[in-house]
Amino acid sequence: MKNFLLAFSAILLISTCHSQGLLQGKEKFTHQDTLRGSITPEREWWDLTYYHLDIEIKPELKFISGKNTIYYKVVSEPNEFMQIDLQQPMEITKAIQDGKELEVQIEGNANFILIPTKQNIGDIKSIEIHYNGYPREAKRAPWDGGFSWKKDQNGKHFIATSCQGLGASVWWPNKDHMYDEVDSMLISVTNPKGLTNVSNGRLRKLVKNNNNTVTSHWFVSNPINNYGVNVNIGDYVNFSEVFKGEKGDLDMNYYVLKENLEIARDHFKDAPKMMKAFEHWFGPYPFYEDSFKLVEVPYLGMEHQSSVTYGNQYKQGYLGRDLSGTGWGLKFDFIIIHEAGHEWFANNITNKDIADMWIHEGFTSYSENLFLDYYYGKEASADYVIGTRANIQNDKPLIGTYNVNNEGSSDMYYKGANMLHTLRQLIEDDEKWRQMLRGLNSEFYHQTVTTKQIEDYLSEHSGIDLTEFFNQYLRTIKIPTLEYEIKKGELKYRWTDIVEGFDMPIQVDIDGKSEWLFPKAKWQTKNIKSDSFNIDRDFYVNSNKI
Ligand SMILES: [Zn+2]
Repeated sequence: MKNFLLAFSAILLISTCHSQGLLQGKEKFTHQDTLRGSITPEREWWDLTYYHLDIEIKPELKFISGKNTIYYKVVSEPNEFMQIDLQQPMEITKAIQDGKELEVQIEGNANFILIPTKQNIGDIKSIEIHYNGYPREAKRAPWDGGFSWKKDQNGKHFIATSCQGLGASVWWPNKDHMYDEVDSMLISVTNPKGLTNVSNGRLRKLVKNNNNTVTSHWFVSNPINNYGVNVNIGDYVNFSEVFKGEKGDLDMNYYVLKENLEIARDHFKDAPKMMKAFEHWFGPYPFYEDSFKLVEVPYLGMEHQSSVTYGNQYKQGYLGRDLSGTGWGLKFDFIIIHEAGHEWFANNITNKDIADMWIHEGFTSYSENLFLDYYYGKEASADYVIGTRANIQNDKPLIGTYNVNNEGSSDMYYKGANMLHTLRQLIEDDEKWRQMLRGLNSEFYHQTVTTKQIEDYLSEHSGIDLTEFFNQYLRTIKIPTLEYEIKKGELKYRWTDIVEGFDMPIQVDIDGKSEWLFPKAKWQTKNIKSDSFNIDRDFYVNSNKI
């Protein structure tokens, strides 16, 4: 999810760019961006193993307080400081290790905790970070996130968090960098009685307190990225079903506002359909141990791990609209399909640096057309992904700037999807392609990765050197252009607008027959009987007839 409305309305374009400006429109980066976006010396010496986030939420005051106990393993010679991120105006009130309060030096959103005792490589340690404050209120969740403090139609609190890009440190203290994930996590949330909190993983315990509050303890037994952690509080009812999946029984649970129970029972039939299609293409759902949940929220939606949030108003498409303009986009609820697709690409395979976020959004946007492929066939899915090309801006490369928490272009969605659709044509074997998509999910199971790792995997398993292919589509805004001329029974052709060495073969129709051309930067010629020449629409390229 994110930055997604960019192409669809001028008004939204302006407001989205405003929020994007914080993250990706920048030419210059600050020291704070480096502290946030790089693996600093104060981060690299310790590896996260476990968080216990334990907080109380007071909706009337819009105030939160509590602590995060961070467990970690010392993996290299310790720095004298440990960096913990928490964005202002939230405040760390104290940091405690081995019963002693430690000194905290604050530098903007980074907190440097002085570690007074010698720690040895291999040690497992914990530190308690106590904090409180009035967290940033989401201005336009999920793009400009934080806490959404809303009410349902009965006047009851309806609260949710969203923080992709902005970072989880907007509401809780953590090591706010994508490269390092905890192995498991406990989320304990205290809220007023009469409201239900749904977080990630499984509800381990629900405790009624004496002061008109309840505490829910949610346990996540798999690695989870920080922005995936969420709190959703409302007057929820729930229903569930068991999905017979590749790894056995998977319980799928749905939490919705009371008034939407009936419509949700019908509308959420897309969820098991999604699971079936995506297990086919990508392999087993990566979080059986934590169940799958869809949770209604007062904003559009987000890929929160094992508790995907939903706010698409029970409509088909994207709030009732078809992003491809072909009609196929109205065959499914965009938020259910897209956000759940992220369970494989974003939550299972996670980028180490958000400059590589195309790994999340490119593959997940591509998953929309694989869903269509599964139920409506190859032509329908091709129509859809090709239709989404109208949304591509070619403003900036898909890969952003490394080490400063910077995303690439919003083209990571549909240019990313069309790049993968093009790659499928090059593989020319759908079963092999499917095994590669499944292979990515087992090779990089529960890992954080770089673009290079994904490129190498795809090159190796396709048997094609894709170096220039990825250089072209990920690192430039140039669309390869097939330039050609037909004269006196001869076809002359070459690639232009390409990176050095780009020589992607392409399928064309010549004289009514489909065949491969192998264009290079230099002109080549071929005999042709008539002037009937067409380029296969599945390739995301331009053409120029001279
Ligand atoms: Zn997404």
